[in-house]
Amino acid sequence: MFRPSEFKGERALVIGAGRSGLAAARLLAGKGFRVLLSDSAPIKDLKPKFKGLPGSVEIEAGGHSDRILSCGFAVKSPGLPSHAPVFKKLKSAGIPVFSEIEVALAFSKAGKVLAVTGTNGKTTTTELLGLLMKSAAKRRGSRAFVCGNLGVPAALTAPEAGPKDALVMELSSYQLEDSTALSPDAACVLNITPDHLDHHGGLSAYVAAKAKVFAGQRKSAACVFNYEDAACRRLARRCPSRTLFFSSVGRGGKLNAWAEDGRLAFRTGSLSFTVEPPRLPGRHNLENAMCAGLMALSCGAGPADLREVFAAFEGVEHRIETARVLRGVTYINDSKATNVDSTATALRALAGKKNIWLILGGLDKGVPYAPLKPLIKASVKKVLTIGRAAPLIERQLRGAAPMERTVTLEAALKKASAAVRTGDIVLLSPACASFDQFRDFEHRGAEFKRLAGRLK
Ligand code: ADP
Repeated sequence: MFRPSEFKGERALVIGAGRSGLAAARLLAGKGFRVLLSDSAPIKDLKPKFKGLPGSVEIEAGGHSDRILSCGFAVKSPGLPSHAPVFKKLKSAGIPVFSEIEVALAFSKAGKVLAVTGTNGKTTTTELLGLLMKSAAKRRGSRAFVCGNLGVPAALTAPEAGPKDALVMELSSYQLEDSTALSPDAACVLNITPDHLDHHGGLSAYVAAKAKVFAGQRKSAACVFNYEDAACRRLARRCPSRTLFFSSVGRGGKLNAWAEDGRLAFRTGSLSFTVEPPRLPGRHNLENAMCAGLMALSCGAGPADLREVFAAFEGVEHRIETARVLRGVTYINDSKATNVDSTATALRALAGKKNIWLILGGLDKGVPYAPLKPLIKASVKKVLTIGRAAPLIERQLRGAAPMERTVTLEAALKKASAAVRTGDIVLLSPACASFDQFRDFEHRGAEFKRLAGRLK
């Protein structure tokens, strides 16, 4: 566990000048530490990021010199591989390395900490949970904050939270991997499917990282699991806190939340009620809502908070987001679908008639596309391929539906919009990373929306 008082007067090392590294440097400098911020990228790439950093932060770019050994402790940015030479060097010098999350939490007085993890659905669940906790906090005259993997560094937000406030965090496997002493009041593991295995070096290390979300919990805390996910059920057996289960398939029994006749049923402790789910497509969103609901209920929210927040929730940008409806044709932006699993989820959520024009492609991630075949066969009129992965996708999905290589997103939209009929859906759910043609998935989604907005 990171205890700032143990390192009084010592120099702090921050490795990595990404968003969380910069926030950690700023936080530690603000708390009186001398900070060395060290990054392997060349200074010309980093310079714009350093604007506004306190003058007391020393900067080292283009590699890590032996100056790092003069520091009392180090903070690791989540994206960096823990087997990088710099961490070996720190380890052999006996310099402890902490995650940005742990450092942030050490300066937080938050009364309740809620931590969301899982392979898919983290951001949606975290946003929803944030709204639920804000709704509960409003009644009490306190506050709720949201931070973590969704783009707001914990080091920026966590120190703001006071003893009456709640802190809702989205934690990726990277952030968990580096943490040793988390003890959230409510946690969850939404689901586990293979992802980021190259970073973690295998499925068991990935699962072990996820397990850290609950490993340090107190007995009286709660952790929510997806009952339909075998890997989640296995993990739950090792959980030291109170386990709560949701299912979008089963009903009753040992479950604490389930879907029933178009509503969500909740049963925990003395509470037993049903609510209308958020109006979002797909079973996966029922799961996200049940998970957020159970976590919120375990931290002081009530049925009225769930009712109000679910009724108003419109989903998160770039996730099966309706960009435009034009002459009976719906243009859907699912740019966040950067892997095959997410695209399958979107196709399942929208399945029905064979009315989808599916835009696939971008930067390949080395995972087979074949699992999409039956879903495409069932619901897709035509596949339009873009980006570098186009030839690979066409080869692997041959026979599933007619296919055409349009190369760019703009050409794909043009092609589809010229041929669509009333009731059709044009879906960008690319199953690939975006970096071959866009800055990131947000940029790709924004482009899709801009182009769809221009259609006549
Ligand atoms: P994350 O932050 O974990 O990437 P998001 O909430 O951003 O998750 O959702 C990303 C994509 O993952 C969605 O577009 C959807 O396709 C898929 N997804 C969302 N929730 C779930 C879920 N509960 N189970 C499976 N897939 C999901």
